Amino acid sequence: MNLMGKVAIVTGGSKGIGAAISKELANAGVKVVVNYNSSQDCAERVVNEILANGGSAIAVKGDVSDLREASVLVEEAIEKYGRLDILVNNAGITRDRTFKKMDENNWRKVIDVNLNSVFNTTSIALQHLIDSGNGRIINISSIIGQAGGFGQTNYSAAKAGLIGFTKSLSLELARTGVTVNAICPGFIETEMLSEVPDNVREQIQGRIPARRFGHAEEIARGVLYLCQDGEYITGQQLNINGGLYM
Ligand code: NAP
Repeated sequence: MNLMGKVAIVTGGSKGIGAAISKELANAGVKVVVNYNSSQDCAERVVNEILANGGSAIAVKGDVSDLREASVLVEEAIEKYGRLDILVNNAGITRDRTFKKMDENNWRKVIDVNLNSVFNTTSIALQHLIDSGNGRIINISSIIGQAGGFGQTNYSAAKAGLIGFTKSLSLELARTGVTVNAICPGFIETEMLSEVPDNVREQIQGRIPARRFGHAEEIARGVLYLCQDGEYITGQQLNINGGLYM
């Protein structure tokens, strides 16, 4: 698919993996709506970089765990660009603690931002993606949703939920031309990973067959591939993890 002139929303596009996805898509000619919740400066930096490279982008604030704010995000994208072809559900947070110490707030917050947000954005964006003729929904899940993670029952449940959501929705949409896929990154060098204590990071790195953490750009290239060449790929999990989970 030629991506020139297509329109994408990238949730949590202000930082890390979402910022890399926004720039990668923009380099391919996609007009990008860079969503953020609190990091306005970071989102504007991403937009300015895209504009400086001759692309088109806007930053739109919105907490995607809130249905009304997700709705405004999609409306602003349509108002600015008149169409929507690609939805990348990337926004995510962690609130790690063992289950014994897991309080309701940390459980619900992580499910809301990582999983319920995807209901919010996708349900509002769906008709526009169908109208696009070859829409793309890409959900950024995680290796933790596949293999589990110590101290991550909330995050793991949310990310596994995304995989089930991806498969079921792909069945419902296959005939419309909208593909629905998940990307499951391994451990990627971003702010999220920097929250992990150094000794744990070293242990993790030692277990990765490739012996290094991934780069946000390596996830972004997976998104680009699914958008550009993925018309017959739907309901799948693309594992980008240096061989850590097979
Ligand atoms: P990050 O650097 O912490 O960035 C998270 C992004 O999500 C930020 O742009 C943040 O924007 C946004 N965000 C958080 N809450 C939001 C909300 N309620 N509404 C809208 N945006 C929100 O994290 P990352 O490592 O790039 O992670 C991106 C995605 O990849 C997440 O879904 C994460 O679970 C997944 N992932 C990451 C790794 C890894 O190793 N890094 C591995 C597997 C999967 P604001 O700062 O503006 O709130």
